[in-house]
Amino acid sequence: MHKETQKILDFVIQKDPSQKEFHQAVTTFLTSIDGVVAQEPQIVYHKVLDRLVEPERVIIFRVPWVDDNGKLQINRGYRVQQNSALGPYKGGLRFHPSVNLSILRFLAFEQVFKNSLTGLPMGGGKGGADFNPKGKSDNEVMRFCQSFMTELSKHIGANTDVPAGDMGVGGREIGYMFGQYKRLQNEVTGVLTGKGISFGGSLIRPEATGYGLIYLTQAVLEAENDSLKDKVCLVSGSGNVAQFTVEKLIQLGAKTITLSDSNGVIIDRDGIDSEKLEWVKILKNVRRGRISEYIKKYPKATYIPRTGEEEYNELWNVKADLAFPCAVQNEINIIDAQHMVSNGIKLVGEGANMPTNIDALRLFQAKGVLFLPAKAANAGGVAVSGLEMSQNSGRISWTKDQVDKKLETIMRNIYKQISDAADTYSTHNNFTDGANIAGFLKVADAMIAQGYV
Ligand code: NDP
Repeated sequence: MHKETQKILDFVIQKDPSQKEFHQAVTTFLTSIDGVVAQEPQIVYHKVLDRLVEPERVIIFRVPWVDDNGKLQINRGYRVQQNSALGPYKGGLRFHPSVNLSILRFLAFEQVFKNSLTGLPMGGGKGGADFNPKGKSDNEVMRFCQSFMTELSKHIGANTDVPAGDMGVGGREIGYMFGQYKRLQNEVTGVLTGKGISFGGSLIRPEATGYGLIYLTQAVLEAENDSLKDKVCLVSGSGNVAQFTVEKLIQLGAKTITLSDSNGVIIDRDGIDSEKLEWVKILKNVRRGRISEYIKKYPKATYIPRTGEEEYNELWNVKADLAFPCAVQNEINIIDAQHMVSNGIKLVGEGANMPTNIDALRLFQAKGVLFLPAKAANAGGVAVSGLEMSQNSGRISWTKDQVDKKLETIMRNIYKQISDAADTYSTHNNFTDGANIAGFLKVADAMIAQGYV
């Protein structure tokens, strides 16, 4: 790494030594853009780097609420407003007990470049709370969301910061938060995306991240004179992104043989077809059950329970052509990657944010596995959120087909940007470098034009 770039990384680590996930995201990013900073000395890109790693604003607040037994509860809420060079802050809210500032800073940082790649006018942010929605009643989730929004509403707005969903925040939570924002501000605006269709939501938003992941995969495979037809796929997770990844894979003739949640993995070598997927959607979105129940319904499948302490994940040791991690950060470690490589995996597409750790990423790159990094691969969700913002501003609604076509066009355009940037500044098909560089250049140029702010 060049001196100026290394200085930024040293500063980040020294300033917040415990924020490991944030260090990881910044390290991968700086490694990718290092060459560009050196290759374009006439443009003072290194001068924006110290600003890029520093959020414009971080809001931390308490979220008091009352559970169903009348007991007082407290959680910590956050919003990281990372960068508004390209537009209002935009990025999801995560409700999960693991949420902390390191995780949200890594997510907000990644979001800036992801949003840049979509070509839509959106800055980057991320937020959430260390609240665990699992096992909570609807009323408890509603009271929590209302209390969370009571504070957050002071810091967001349709032209300032427009949050969406992420882990633990789906249509139900967005609905409760939107309702509370409306009561507090007496204003119906597109302040959140992922809303219900009847109150300003966009068709295809729930599907967008998973569908977008597969549209990008399709573009990459086409460039290699290949297709999704008959490909055997591994998918992890069983939430929003995983479900619609599987749905699009089915539509395009591929076969998915795995799913998971934080308690375990299912392997169904016959393939998860449309009927099984509909059952999983009801299990996860309506009954809020565990993936282990799959084998009671489909006894030919296998279930492997997990504590999360294992050295590797059995899911990544199943022979397949393509892998789509759609659960959580750092779910693929070096042992998982070694298994995948020796099983002949051709492509890894990140549906989740940063699911591949740095060693695993380096192995995939060294072994020529086509690797689609999250900031490109899962940009479809925020892209359709951007389209939801446009529809809200214009007080119009596009049809399902219109939004789906726009999503596919955006994902194909992302493929072009990341492969062109890889060819120009790095090596052919190094999409990690391509995504970081293409995302960075647009944001950096805007920041320079705005006076290095
Ligand atoms: P959901 O909450 O809908 O689903 C998350 C899934 O991951 C659940 O099946 C969950 O299982 C599983 N999971 C969580 N932790 C672990 C773990 N430690 N080990 C194994 N499985 C785990 O979230 P989303 O589908 O929305 O998000 C998934 C990923 O995609 C996240 O990284 C998110 O940041 C990213 N993403 C989401 C977008 C969106 O539009 N929703 C957009 C872009 C990225 P359990 O039920 O047990 O918790």
